[in-house]
Amino acid sequence: MDLGLKGKIALVSAASKGLGYGVARALARDGAKVSICSREAGNVERTAQSLRDETGADILASVCDVTKPDQITAWVEQTVAAWGRIDALLVNAGGPPGGLALEMTDAQWQSAFELTLMSSVRMIRAAVPHMTEGGSILTITSSSIREPIERLGLSTVMRSGVAGLVKTLADELAGKQIRVNNLIPGRIDTERVAQLDEAAAKRSGLSVEEVRAQSIARIPLKRLGTTEDFGSAAAFLLSPAAAYITGATLRVDGGMMRSI
Ligand code: NAP
Repeated sequence: MDLGLKGKIALVSAASKGLGYGVARALARDGAKVSICSREAGNVERTAQSLRDETGADILASVCDVTKPDQITAWVEQTVAAWGRIDALLVNAGGPPGGLALEMTDAQWQSAFELTLMSSVRMIRAAVPHMTEGGSILTITSSSIREPIERLGLSTVMRSGVAGLVKTLADELAGKQIRVNNLIPGRIDTERVAQLDEAAAKRSGLSVEEVRAQSIARIPLKRLGTTEDFGSAAAFLLSPAAAYITGATLRVDGGMMRSI
């Protein structure tokens, strides 16, 4: 199926590795021009070069910490200066720390708000003026917005806010024919998931392999997802092939979530 991404201009945040990288790679393979960012220049430059080498696509690399409003503005402006418009935006960031909700300080709540919710508002607000009819925005949240995860209260609360933002903006941007959707990763094999498994192993006294085996046992397809699995679903939702899908939340979880 031709997704219609050839020549489209996409922004993908937090893309030097993990889910963001998987999405940038899927878009680049389908012929989009992709502007990626992350906080560390070395990381983002290395990833951009490997995407260029693999796909031959035009890739821009920018340093942007999405908790910094001026850096978001600069990233979007650099992309528009280079390519003139934006067709697709993938909104991503690192995850907030784990721990019991009531043990989190006000400062931790505030920084989770900036990292997860306000970064989404700011990236979308910066990109929309440069989007034309047919533009597409996709956020990444978590299965916790449907089924809260133990010790991930900050993530659950802030990502539920992002899900509310998506549904709100699907209405508000529909008049401009801009679509807004949300993608839930179940357990996709990335460094973040490896770190969460290590923390769970320390708490439980199990080995990391045992923790991982337990989580795979809960997934009907009996494996972790790959960044390719996630990237393909994201590329579809960001593409013209998904022209009549807006305000939707799709799960890429191998059947893991139990809610209907
Ligand atoms: P990851 O493997 O740790 O990758 C995180 C990426 O984000 C890196 O490229 C990192 O690059 C960049 N980054 C982190 N903080 C940033 C910031 N403030 N500004 C810009 N870039 C930033 O994580 P992941 O598994 O891909 O997860 C991505 C998001 O999805 C996280 O919020 C995570 O909690 C969420 N999530 C993931 C899963 C899963 O199954 N993997 C499940 C549920 C939710 P630099 O270090 O160079 O900045």
